[in-house]
Amino acid sequence: MTAPVYLDHNATTQPSAAVIEEMLDGLRTVWANPSSMHAPGQAARRALADARTRIAAFLGCQGAELVFTSGATEANHMALIGALDLAQRASADGQGVHVRRRLVLSAVEHPASLALAARLRASGQPVDLIPVDRHGVLDLDAARALIREDVALVSVMGANNETGVIMPVAEVAALAHAAGAPLHVDATQLAGKSPARFGASGADLWSVSAHKLRGPKGVGALVVRKGLAWPALISGRQERGRRGGTENLPAILGFAAAADQAGRTLAHDLAHMRGLQARLEAGLVDALAVVHVFGAAAPRLPNTSCLRFGSLDAELVLARLEGAGVVASSGAACTASGTQASHVLLAMGETAENARAGVRLSLGPDTDAAAIDHVIAAARRVLAPLLQEAARAPALQS
Ligand code: PMP
Repeated sequence: MTAPVYLDHNATTQPSAAVIEEMLDGLRTVWANPSSMHAPGQAARRALADARTRIAAFLGCQGAELVFTSGATEANHMALIGALDLAQRASADGQGVHVRRRLVLSAVEHPASLALAARLRASGQPVDLIPVDRHGVLDLDAARALIREDVALVSVMGANNETGVIMPVAEVAALAHAAGAPLHVDATQLAGKSPARFGASGADLWSVSAHKLRGPKGVGALVVRKGLAWPALISGRQERGRRGGTENLPAILGFAAAADQAGRTLAHDLAHMRGLQARLEAGLVDALAVVHVFGAAAPRLPNTSCLRFGSLDAELVLARLEGAGVVASSGAACTASGTQASHVLLAMGETAENARAGVRLSLGPDTDAAAIDHVIAAARRVLAPLLQEAARAPALQS
């Protein structure tokens, strides 16, 4: 059996050979604790420092600005909870007329960030959500109204994981800084899919995750702008007291190998994926006519197409596509009672029916034209009959 065409790169990517090699070598040769003073410990420490430099070069930050975490979920938690820790300390010190307590997030953040925001709100923490427009782009007028001088942190995505819509980070940074608040960007989906880098972004905090760019799962980082003393989420001595726990050096080495590779091929990868995205979307529209691409009018990542096929339920579409050798995901969550509508598509003003129909096809740098043509042919073959059936169904009911 041939392997299916994998179009779920926004969920995770397959570790590359270079990543696997470097991780295995790290497990064999630098397994000592980087905090140990003996020679093997010092060798591990040097390997950690070298990996830090390589990852920082790719992200456009300084090595000292990188705090390694277990991934972007933890980095996002460190950003949000750190802001509240700082606010609490400032109010305990009686500093300032304004007590900065409010968190301002976008309505289309990663579900884990929104779940944390909901938990904080339930315990009395003020949280506001910035809406998006019908194209999925952050509403800057609404952001301007919400970002006031009582804000402890503004947190927005660099690009949305479901639609690939790119957010106006520089504009939000200007609004946050005018109000005296730091800006956190969840840049998880930008790395390897956009030329955006931390340094020039205007952001103060920047979350990334290795497994979105052919690195291993369970490792990522929060970039903390130099001079910003950000509290730890996990207390301990490592990472200059900013993140406790023995560093996951083999994973960090894999992250560095992934960053090296993505950095070397970025310009080529972006152009390659952009070409395939256009081929995929044009091919599907041509094959099935009723294909709608969410966020098509907005700036988007070159690898992400969030589509609906008429209003066919995403789970049905995905099951049929998998049967035809194509694997992908929906943004919507599945529950025992059926498909839940995607919070991102609902925030864009889509109906619940359409928000249950969103299918995300996300390409990787190794996706090729033959794979795209396979997907178009498969969609034509397995979805056209479903669409014909759906078109007949209302007539039968009446
Ligand atoms: N933020 C965004 C935008 C994501 O796409 C993801 C991964 N789905 C995460 C955060 C979580 O990353 P991790 O798996 O490293 O915790």
